[in-house]
Amino acid sequence: MRDMMCDRYENNWGAIRTHHRRHNRVQDVYNFRLNELDGERIGSLLLGVYNDQRVQFKLNMSFGFMLRHRVNGELRYFHASHNNHRLFERPYVIGTRQDIIDVAQRFKTSDIGELVTRERENSAWVLEYVTNVSIYVFKLGDFPLGDGVNCEEMPKALFARYHSSIGGKDGVSTFKGVSFQELGDVEKCFQCNIYVYELEPNASHDGNEGQTLSSQTVAKLLRRSPCRFQDSMYLNYYDGHFSYIKNMNFYAHTFSCSRCRRLFKHNRLLQRHIPRCNMHVKHRFPGGVFQLSSSVFDTLEAVGIVVHPRDRFYPYRITYDIETYLDKEDVIPSKSAKLNYIGQHKLLSISVCSNVPGYDRPQCFISKGDDPQLVDNFVIYMTEISQAAFEHMTEGGPISTALQSIKELVKDYGPMDDLRRVRIG
Ligand SMILES: [Zn+2]
Repeated sequence: MRDMMCDRYENNWGAIRTHHRRHNRVQDVYNFRLNELDGERIGSLLLGVYNDQRVQFKLNMSFGFMLRHRVNGELRYFHASHNNHRLFERPYVIGTRQDIIDVAQRFKTSDIGELVTRERENSAWVLEYVTNVSIYVFKLGDFPLGDGVNCEEMPKALFARYHSSIGGKDGVSTFKGVSFQELGDVEKCFQCNIYVYELEPNASHDGNEGQTLSSQTVAKLLRRSPCRFQDSMYLNYYDGHFSYIKNMNFYAHTFSCSRCRRLFKHNRLLQRHIPRCNMHVKHRFPGGVFQLSSSVFDTLEAVGIVVHPRDRFYPYRITYDIETYLDKEDVIPSKSAKLNYIGQHKLLSISVCSNVPGYDRPQCFISKGDDPQLVDNFVIYMTEISQAAFEHMTEGGPISTALQSIKELVKDYGPMDDLRRVRIG
């Protein structure tokens, strides 16, 4: 059941997820994903949509939800739609804050489940889950919203507008502020370009193009806006906090380009320079860049032990081939009429060969009826080859000189035999 729910949810994620179509001339649509059917939450979403408007509007809503069939358990997703599943037969006209509060009140007092599903096909389908709500806003031309926002209300109203635009769930008490990365969202929400500056000591009092810029502090531009909107706002950044710059003329008398460090007397000169700044962009990677991890041979080279590249690959290997035969006399009894065993595969032989000197002729172990013994013999023989290979490698082999050097280096840490035991084990 849960899998089916996830499946329906995934297939309709495009319709369920929080997304908006705002700032249109005639109609805006706000879609919010819902985790639970909560009248308070729907009321706050409505208030957020109201705060996003400038002119009076007609409002309608529609819910997206899943119904479950009582008998066969089938799940169906119903899209929110203004044409087929609108909530109100006649839209509400919203001109004042009280109008939207009245609509929100309806959700606190009504059975939302009943409102949502009153058009279901028949009683065989029951409401399983309400996934999202779409709020439709039809703008009424030049009629501004009736009530202004008083000074006490304004921060709360602005916060609510921002909060609803990012689909936030928690209240103001858990709001941790806006990060650099989120300034783009703030710009979009309030239709305002945001520039961020930081004041820093003027390291160079030398002039720029012959001018002397003797200001003690320099305003360095940290963030430049893409300039999409008519209004602009300037912020000062200090110690993880933004503060509002009321007047750029009082803020600083010297401005620096964060790319090429050139200094300017006026902010407008800096703004004019930035699109043309051709200083090569330098990337800084505080965590370092990707590097191949060093091999054991690199580590050895660091202590003066060099192993030739051709000796860095282990030269020895063992190959084996295991054969079985089909014993038709030892047949397992069938457990059903449709299943019939004709015999059992049994171990016949294991042949082993290697390129280790002294072990380069094939050796074949043939079963005498004791399979565990045959496997034991096979493993013992491979261990013997492994030990012989180790002898060849370490005594007179290609890396014996390197091993001898290591032995001398690590003699304080224990005898070579210990290393060898570890290697073989
Ligand atoms: Zn520059």
